Amino acid sequence: MKEHTMEVLPLIPLRGITVFPHMVLHFDVGREMSIAALEEAMVKDQRIFLVSQKEAKIEEPEESDIYEIGTVCNIKQILKLPGDTVRVLVEGETRGRIKEYISNDSFFKASIEVIEDKELEEDDKNIKGLLRVVKDNFDEYIKLSGTISTDVLVGLDDTKIPGRLADTIGSYLNIKQEEKQELIECLDIYTRLEKIIAMLSEEIDILKVERKIGIKVKKKIDKVQKEYYLREQLKAIREELGEDDEGKKEISTYKKKIDKSKLPKEVKEKALYELERLKNSGNYSAESNVIRTYLDWILDLPWNKQTKDNLDIKKARKILDNEHYGLKDVKDRIIEYLAVKKVSKSLKGPILCLVGPPGVGKTSIAKSIAHSLNRNFVRMSLGGVRDEAEIRGHRKTYVGAIPGRIIYGMKQAKSKNPLFLLDEIDKMSNDFKGDPAGALLEVLDGEQNNTFRDHYLETDFDLSKVLFITTANTLNTIPGPLLDRMEIIEVSGYTSEEKFNIAKNHLIPKKLKEHNMDEDKIKFSNHSIYYIIDNYTRESGVRSLERKISSVIRKAITYMIEKDKESVNITINHIKKYLGPEVFSYDKVDKQDKVGVVTGLAWTAYGGDTLPIEVSTMPGTGKLQLTGKLGDVMIESAKAAYSYVRSNSKEYKIKDDFYKNKDVHIHVPEGAVPKDGPSAGVTMITALVSALSNAKVKHNVAMTGEITLTGRVLPIGGLKEKSLAAYRAGVDTIIFPKANEKDLINIPKTIKNKINFIPAEKIENVLENALV
Ligand code: ADP
Repeated sequence: MKEHTMEVLPLIPLRGITVFPHMVLHFDVGREMSIAALEEAMVKDQRIFLVSQKEAKIEEPEESDIYEIGTVCNIKQILKLPGDTVRVLVEGETRGRIKEYISNDSFFKASIEVIEDKELEEDDKNIKGLLRVVKDNFDEYIKLSGTISTDVLVGLDDTKIPGRLADTIGSYLNIKQEEKQELIECLDIYTRLEKIIAMLSEEIDILKVERKIGIKVKKKIDKVQKEYYLREQLKAIREELGEDDEGKKEISTYKKKIDKSKLPKEVKEKALYELERLKNSGNYSAESNVIRTYLDWILDLPWNKQTKDNLDIKKARKILDNEHYGLKDVKDRIIEYLAVKKVSKSLKGPILCLVGPPGVGKTSIAKSIAHSLNRNFVRMSLGGVRDEAEIRGHRKTYVGAIPGRIIYGMKQAKSKNPLFLLDEIDKMSNDFKGDPAGALLEVLDGEQNNTFRDHYLETDFDLSKVLFITTANTLNTIPGPLLDRMEIIEVSGYTSEEKFNIAKNHLIPKKLKEHNMDEDKIKFSNHSIYYIIDNYTRESGVRSLERKISSVIRKAITYMIEKDKESVNITINHIKKYLGPEVFSYDKVDKQDKVGVVTGLAWTAYGGDTLPIEVSTMPGTGKLQLTGKLGDVMIESAKAAYSYVRSNSKEYKIKDDFYKNKDVHIHVPEGAVPKDGPSAGVTMITALVSALSNAKVKHNVAMTGEITLTGRVLPIGGLKEKSLAAYRAGVDTIIFPKANEKDLINIPKTIKNKINFIPAEKIENVLENALV
């Protein structure tokens, strides 16, 4: 083993710093003992031993307070600073170990064992590996810390002096002094390198975390600072403009409004709470806008406002009759409601559902009911509502949230007991966003709707005083639970006579008034009204009739102005001129009896209609062809009819091998209109039998009915609508299922007078009456 040289050197105990060999560093010296040591070194060979104190705070250390191993240094420069301080620039040379203190009063002096790093073999594999890791880690450290230049490593990649690399890196690391001392005391080069690797990777981890946090913190600070800055600016601007107390004014206005409006206790508390939040949220923040909107909603709702019901039944009846022709069932039901209410005072309103084709006056009679009861009227269409939130609102936490349509309607109503019309309840649909029908159920349920909770309002609203009325075109698509809750009133289509009355007594006066005219100036002849009804409209209701009347009135006004006339009497000729060629020469039934052509009757959401069915046969191989956009039910009905005719061919004098050598084609004209439903069964059989037996069908007969394979005729729906359609088409006999005889009571007299209704129990009854 190599002998270590010994040297006697003055010694300075360092506080909080460590000098590594080969490192240049300056520090300030103030303690008297240290300055004396310095002076001693300067007069000798300018060499000094620098070693750390175990605890930096000790002012006058003793030998035991000083570590054993330190660095022998060369003093490069000394600079006297003001006061008694001296700045020293030193360069570390080698490690050294204190062997013995040499007694001296004015400064430390010791005999030092000088420790040089061992020289290593040039291609020591272990060292090479360690060095590579050290350098890679240090590179990463430099990148992350960003405070050290890569230049510090220049010249240090010499594998002969790996200990020096470790020392240099150690001096740059931001580690505790004890750790630095550990490195100084580490005389074995392998261990020193391993230590450096461990320290480096710990530092890298720390830096990574710091950086992550740093980015986050910086972002936050940037945003906060920006907002703060903008707000301060805004404040300054407002102060400058003298608008500073606008916020305060707003708060006190809200406060006044809240105090004045008779909010229920819970709602008032909520409102005051929100007001407090508004106060604290800064005038122009996004938050404050949300709160303002919310407060406005609360203040706009009719929590306690009510209109006084008119319970004068005679007066109510008069209003209803004045405003609408017919609609007896609806009017009677409302009068009944009023009567019961008069006796019982508190009555949970029934949910009426007016069902019928468009344009028959469902909406307008509802408005009229509101008028007769002296209630406010609101209408909300449910058509296309798919999302529960449309009924019940979005939670306030959503950006741009608003209450649902019910609360929206209540705001419009301006009283808590309006007549609330829910239009098109059959057009509501379901999707993944929840079940609007379920929400609606809660709205309509008299047992629980006094505490209806809208997601936006977050507080209960009392709907129990509302009179809900719903409308629908068909009952088929209304969810069962909803249907259960409602009382159905059918409002069916009108005959021409009824339409005439409606036009003459309601539509024309209404339209004239809208145009600032009266019947003295524009007078419709009765014939002209009928002419419009029969030739320009084809509907169950009166909506397009109303439009045509408007159009005639506009043209008449133009005519009067152009020709400078005071008045005009509208005749059929005027109608022809104003409305152009007739649109519907109405599909009046054929005037001749034909083979294979039968008039069926159909019922749709738009009312009744005629549904002609044609069958033709041709030589072939027994194929059955169906055309005319038939739905599944209708196709099955056709197949059943075909089977029935095959199994009963003898009875109708049809050759029983027709299914082998004849192709049969069933067609339902107006091929573009989809058709479905079971009630065409009898029509199909009649047409088939007619075509196959070559027997003519009476042209003035229409029919409807479902059939079984054994030929029984089953009941159908919508007999009234169907007979209206038959009547319009000029039919004089209707064959219908015997089981529907009870419905005859609803058929208007005018129709019963003109049309012969023949009930049929079996298909034989139908054929007897239909075939010539
Ligand atoms: P619906 O709601 O059934 O689709 P509307 O209420 O919109 O029909 O009615 C269409 C128009 O026809 C309205 O102007 C209405 O006043 C008028 N109307 C319908 N039926 C009658 C009637 N029986 N008496 C008077 N006017 C009617």
